Amino acid sequence: MSDCIFCKIVKGEIPSTKIFENETVIGFKDLRPQAKIHQLFIHKSHTKDINDLAKNDPKELSDVFNAIRTYTMNEGLEKGGFRVVTNLGPNAGQTVFHTHFHVLAGEPLGHFGS
Ligand code: 5GP
Ligand code: ZN
Repeated sequence: MSDCIFCKIVKGEIPSTKIFENETVIGFKDLRPQAKIHQLFIHKSHTKDINDLAKNDPKELSDVFNAIRTYTMNEGLEKGGFRVVTNLGPNAGQTVFHTHFHVLAGEPLGHFGS
């Protein structure tokens, strides 16, 4: 997708602070962090949201979650804990239409759900 900002980050056409990379996935710092640690994980192949990704190739989901596992284990984030969030569509406030997973950590995040 030539006009997708996250595809441009994958290609290095716009700058980002990468914190993880392998053949299929990159992780980079969110521009406007909502927690002490706020990273975004994306598959290098473009899909617009999680349903599109799961339909396209479910293996992409395991690629991303294995990357999140490697990153959080290497950084010792399992100890304090972390949250993974993905938004789909307007009610969830999705603003970038390249599937991405927010990883939030580094401080108490407040309880989500009841
Ligand atoms: P969404 O609201 O779609 O779930 O999340 C999009 C996220 O991407 C937001 O948290 C926003 O701060 C982040 N973001 C938007 N543009 C850029 C960018 O150019 N670089 C980086 N690193 N993050 C971005
Ligand atoms: Zn894209």
